[in-house]
Amino acid sequence: MIMLRPNFFAWLGFFSILFLTIPLQSTAVKIQDSDLLMVGFDGIGYETVMEMYRGGYFRDFQPPIPMVATFPSISDPNWAQIMSAPVEPSYTKAHFLMSYKDRNGVGKEVGNILKHITYTPAFEKKFNYKTESPLEHAMNVVWTKTTAHYWIDDLERTLLEQKNPKSPFSAFVVNTDFISHVSGKKETLKYLKFTEGKLKDLRKKYHEKFKRTLDFIIVSDHGNDWVEPKGIDLKPLEKFGWHWNSQLAKPTEYAFVAPEIIAFGAFYVLPKQEKKFAQDLAKLKGIHVTLALEKENVINVYSKSGATQISINPEKRKVGYKVLRGEDSLKQIALFKKTSGPNNSIVKSIELSWDEYFYSSQSTDFPNSLVNAWEGFYKNAKNPAPVLAAAERGYAFTNMTLEILTYLSGLHAMHGSFHKSEVYGVFMSTRPIPVEYIRPWEVRQYLK
Ligand SMILES: [Zn+2]
Repeated sequence: MIMLRPNFFAWLGFFSILFLTIPLQSTAVKIQDSDLLMVGFDGIGYETVMEMYRGGYFRDFQPPIPMVATFPSISDPNWAQIMSAPVEPSYTKAHFLMSYKDRNGVGKEVGNILKHITYTPAFEKKFNYKTESPLEHAMNVVWTKTTAHYWIDDLERTLLEQKNPKSPFSAFVVNTDFISHVSGKKETLKYLKFTEGKLKDLRKKYHEKFKRTLDFIIVSDHGNDWVEPKGIDLKPLEKFGWHWNSQLAKPTEYAFVAPEIIAFGAFYVLPKQEKKFAQDLAKLKGIHVTLALEKENVINVYSKSGATQISINPEKRKVGYKVLRGEDSLKQIALFKKTSGPNNSIVKSIELSWDEYFYSSQSTDFPNSLVNAWEGFYKNAKNPAPVLAAAERGYAFTNMTLEILTYLSGLHAMHGSFHKSEVYGVFMSTRPIPVEYIRPWEVRQYLK
């Protein structure tokens, strides 16, 4: 006790100096003495950017981290979360509307490939800079190679022409996803190198004109797996008694809309047929897993080798997981097992908080897949489909028209599934980033 007293006062003195100086320092750090430009690139994967970073590119930036996309790992739901925009009617620009009914049956197809060109989703409107007219939209899709440089040049012009620079300023560049799909990795890397040079240049010009530092955030909504995918053949569903139809009248009919070639499929059947259909669909070549609701907030996952069950508590933000039979195709069960007892003999399945699960699942091939699956039904579409499916790596859901279109131009990248290579978009900034992984809805915290 005698020795503690002098120590106590010494520590007290030390801490009071510390506490007096820390607030002064931290407020000095907190005031951002720079402006911020966020550029959203569609479909640029973490590994692709890391390859460049390791090669010495983007060195004005802090090391990139994965932006872990939700399910499906495609643009609309992920940008909606990133930009905190209203959710779209469905996952893509076309879907099957189950609330429609006439004397022939239930549902009808809404939207099509043209909608891709002419429709502006709600998230796009949240960006300060984006493609404005249908013509500009068309330019993105049709003439990717010749227009690739146009957006960055035009963005630079827009930023530098401001009288009072707006900060944060956000810009959306969609053509990076088309370059990835149509032209492949080499062209994508070329485009990113060009962009890196342009951003460096812009930073210099910005400082000259406004006498302020311009910081950057680059964010991408999902990854892209560098594969030339094979189309999944749905015809074998007939062996199990299922027949495609444009409207659902019988319990053995299903509807499927392929608005683009992606590794994600939304399927529609009449009520009470979901589980049987999901189990049969999972048997098809090229399908990784299928999902159907067992009941509210409980999702069954089917694959060729087994079935598992996800249970979500949205209020407490918790996730539970168990194997129903066979193998766990999402390979998440180890994260939920806890050994206890004297000889570590009792193994019990535990519930995890969404945060705990998010971080621990990054070591698996299907990061955050369980909570993402739930978001697929409850968060990512106004009209969620009754059965969702993810393709195996190297496979995609498609249709004849799309196959003919891509036969002409080729297809070199794929995304939409639960696999890491398709789920990992990228987040990087010239400012420090205090986390190792980021979810789409967390991005907006950095837009200050
Ligand atoms: Zn895409």
